[in-house]
Amino acid sequence: MGLSLSSSLRIGLLSAAAGTAAGFSFGAAAASGVRRTASTGLRPASLAAQSSAAAVSFKDAGLCKKLDVPADLLEKVDVFIFDCDGVIWKGDSLIDKVPAVLAMLRAAGKKVFFVTNNSTKSRKGYLGKFKSLGLEETQPEEIFSSSFAAAAYLEQTKFKESGKKVYIIGEVGIEEELDMIGVPWIGGGSDAGKKIALKSGYALPHDSDVGAVIVGFDREINYHKIQYAQLCINENPGCEFIATNLDAVTHLTDAQEWAGNGAMAGAIKGCTGREPTLVGKPSPLMIDYMVEKFGIERGRICMVGDRLDTDILFGQNNGLLSCLTLSGVTTEEKLLSPENEIKPDFYVDSIADFL
Ligand SMILES: [Mg+2]
Repeated sequence: MGLSLSSSLRIGLLSAAAGTAAGFSFGAAAASGVRRTASTGLRPASLAAQSSAAAVSFKDAGLCKKLDVPADLLEKVDVFIFDCDGVIWKGDSLIDKVPAVLAMLRAAGKKVFFVTNNSTKSRKGYLGKFKSLGLEETQPEEIFSSSFAAAAYLEQTKFKESGKKVYIIGEVGIEEELDMIGVPWIGGGSDAGKKIALKSGYALPHDSDVGAVIVGFDREINYHKIQYAQLCINENPGCEFIATNLDAVTHLTDAQEWAGNGAMAGAIKGCTGREPTLVGKPSPLMIDYMVEKFGIERGRICMVGDRLDTDILFGQNNGLLSCLTLSGVTTEEKLLSPENEIKPDFYVDSIADFL
């Protein structure tokens, strides 16, 4: 996707939540030779060997295996990476039996992480959501939001040393993460409600010190923000265009699908002709961070998500096992249709099936 950094680029990432330094690198998955696309179906031999014979034969036949014996999955996995929207919760409603599933996994010695493409909250903000839903055991270092990924990318690329600032299209999550790493920013919530009054000879002034535009989900996006981002990217030499994610739709409520950050990033792509650097799923950034920081073996990790083109592809591109849950945006009909080329190792009605 948009990441083009060399795998040799490495920096010490200051983990603001934990207050510890941690190595952070981009592109390691590409270097490891385990990337795959939905169409090629290439899969590392070591990983295939760790899948059950039944699961492999199902996948080889272009079929998906519904998990009916939880031990089939639990025996193969040390680490579960859960997408949040559509897996743990829908909007502000916790999905049934999630606390029992997480308690069971922790009691069995499994590591759990929560990865979300939603950039509207920082890790601190997400911790508050987990606690408010009764998931008291959640630790800040278990949470990987795309707002955090955007800040981590700036750390990786030593953006702060450039002396430049960031223009934000997005909400408070990105603002808080940039504050935590001490990168100056403008825009975001402070540009909500701004209007452009066009008259002869009018030009919108913009800051030539903006060295990156970060585009995340923004319920207050407006023409002022789009024009400001366009000016920074098109007129400031070297200005980066970073997207937290490119999700087409998202779950703002549990009543319908809502236009996702693909809409905001698409607006900026449309007026600049530039492809963004993607930091959320399905880019390898977050999984590389986990593998490196926690010393986890990829083949013993299972990505659990509700979306084929981000969650399951994210798992497959990074050499992980994958499990689709039908509790979110993907129907069983879509999963099993001949048109779908992205096949998870397993699927479940909801993660309650792990019990
Ligand atoms: Mg989801």
